[in-house]
Amino acid sequence: MVETSVSSGQLVVLTGPSGVGKGTLVQRLLTLHPDWFLSISATTRSPREGEFDGQSYYFLSKDQFQTWITEEKLLEWAEYAGNYYGTPREPVETQIAQGKTVLLEIEVVGAKQIQQTFPAARRIFILPPSVEILETRLRGRGTDPDSAIAKRLAQAKEELAAAPEFDYQIVNNDLEQALGELSQIICE
Ligand code: 5GP
Repeated sequence: MVETSVSSGQLVVLTGPSGVGKGTLVQRLLTLHPDWFLSISATTRSPREGEFDGQSYYFLSKDQFQTWITEEKLLEWAEYAGNYYGTPREPVETQIAQGKTVLLEIEVVGAKQIQQTFPAARRIFILPPSVEILETRLRGRGTDPDSAIAKRLAQAKEELAAAPEFDYQIVNNDLEQALGELSQIICE
């Protein structure tokens, strides 16, 4: 993996299991700080209803994704619940060079890779109040079939074990409180 230096902006990695509320927290942070930049990931999973290419994700075929890996276009990538996900390198590097705060909302395996490529990144792990509450949230979201939810839950349990490896851990019990803690870490 190519070593990348941070010249002026900062890179903030938000990770944690699917359903923990990373997406909601990120959207709230962007509303509070419209000058921050959210990286748009590439994925091989199919778009959900209301998701559009280049907005939610760059939706790629497996062959295209493989080409991006080979050409080192991705800052990190991981297989997650049967699909590939990765962070396009160029937009992140450009925004950081311009002094921006760049947010990545990614799963745990990829977040660990960022540890090597951007040692200066602030790596934040979002925890659910409990595994039971995480399951309720995943089912309540209604975006995935039962088989996908079961896969995500099994994966979530493994991911939670990695929480201590990250710089910060935040429990997303009360959204406002979690948001306050996050803002403090990023702005300090
Ligand atoms: P979803 O399919 O629900 O949109 O995302 C599944 C998981 O993939 C989530 O935990 C999400 O944070 C993660 N993810 C999204 N984009 C990326 C990425 O670029 N890299 C990695 N490693 N994970 C990602």
